[in-house]
Amino acid sequence: MNRLKNAMRFFFTAVLLTWMILPTSAQDKKESTYVLITNVNVWDGTSDKTKEADVLIENNKISKVGKNIKAPEGAVVIDGKGGYVTPGLIDMHQHLMLNGGTSAGSYDWDAYAQGAHATRAAEYLLLQGFTTIRDIAGNSLSLKRAVNSGKLPGPRIYSSGGAIGPTGSHTDWGSYNDGPGQPNYQTMVRNAMVGDGRAEWLKLCRWNFKSGADFIKVMSGGGVASVFDPIDLNSPSLEEMKTAVQVADEYGGYVAIHGYTDAAYNKSLDAGVKSFEHGFLISEETVKRMAEEGVWWSWQPYGSYNTFGMGNFPDWFTDDMREKGALVAEGSVKVPKWMKKYGVKTFTGSDMFGWDNWHNAIVNVAYPVDIPGLDYNSVDCLMMATSNAGQALLELSAPSRNPFKGAKLGVIEEGAWADLLIWSKDPTQDVKIILEQDNLLFIMKDGDAYKNVLVDPTDESYRGPLKPRGYNWMESHGESGKHWH
Ligand SMILES: [Zn+2]
Repeated sequence: MNRLKNAMRFFFTAVLLTWMILPTSAQDKKESTYVLITNVNVWDGTSDKTKEADVLIENNKISKVGKNIKAPEGAVVIDGKGGYVTPGLIDMHQHLMLNGGTSAGSYDWDAYAQGAHATRAAEYLLLQGFTTIRDIAGNSLSLKRAVNSGKLPGPRIYSSGGAIGPTGSHTDWGSYNDGPGQPNYQTMVRNAMVGDGRAEWLKLCRWNFKSGADFIKVMSGGGVASVFDPIDLNSPSLEEMKTAVQVADEYGGYVAIHGYTDAAYNKSLDAGVKSFEHGFLISEETVKRMAEEGVWWSWQPYGSYNTFGMGNFPDWFTDDMREKGALVAEGSVKVPKWMKKYGVKTFTGSDMFGWDNWHNAIVNVAYPVDIPGLDYNSVDCLMMATSNAGQALLELSAPSRNPFKGAKLGVIEEGAWADLLIWSKDPTQDVKIILEQDNLLFIMKDGDAYKNVLVDPTDESYRGPLKPRGYNWMESHGESGKHWH
């Protein structure tokens, strides 16, 4: 026993000494790397239009935005060729682990294969211009660590881990024959978590944060893409919802709810929830209350209007899911109008499942201009997918729970993370130019370039218009994938 104690004492002393010596000497040796982007028009994420400026990047942050910046010694200078700089895009509603929908993995592939698909999806989204995503249901917690630490390519990931809800709710993706509390495939791999009552909710929510979740996703009321829940389902209880908010407060995180109805939204507001998904069946009164209480709304313009409204349902949707989807479509035009009228803080998220849909994540960003009767312009669309989302990510969590607390996301300004894109055309004039992958010339995330076609292909800084390797996009998507090959 004594020998063990001595060994441990020696070990800790050694660790302490190393720690005391290392940081200063490592600090002394560290030199900054600089990238200077010239000959561009910059949209900062919040203004009405672009302005001519250079952008200087020091390591992984933007250090200066202005005219005629002098290149520091050793800087890599990138001629933007008159292109347009925007912040990297942020998708606030992703499901990396749910390739194939809520039954993913039940029949065809297991969690390992799901993970393999998810790594491809992460890389693919980055190459579309998304430098940050919020993964909001699905066990992407380990994948998040791998990507955020730079071991795998992908956008910065905020993850909720598995979504939480009661038995029979929008997280219950088992079968009709499951017994009470019996695990199903999705609960076993923790893409979804099912619990009833305060004690179980305390356990699930705390477990989720312990496992690295940045926030908690709660299914409040029914959904479209699930089997057992009518869309007007009025669970979880207020007590369960308050439990989730309590645990989120304990950890400095927050609760984001899935919900469609007045009952779902108001109960969540009563419990202190700050982040709201969908809501396409709520009334104008509830929208007013959201504005008064300063909460955030997450909008899925493409899914709600196109997928549900125009009958473009995924193949795996049942007749019942299609009926529920049609109801949602009616609200997809009304609700955004009220959100704008009352000034509810809004960001967008695509809510795309799997390879049949991931190419629509970018379409979602630009889609508000395509919904008839809405008054959203190109800059509105871009703000909802950049600075608004960045502001929400900063505002919703305590710094201790925010993996990217060190700087702002979604803006081009001094001190912000170096996540930026260069387009050949001005997306603030016409946001739909982002749908053409050839218009995206340069992608930088965290100071690293993932695409750079501004230089000749023989140049060593050239990064071609990559797609996740080995995946034949055209073959799988035919005409609908024509922008993405
Ligand atoms: Zn979703």
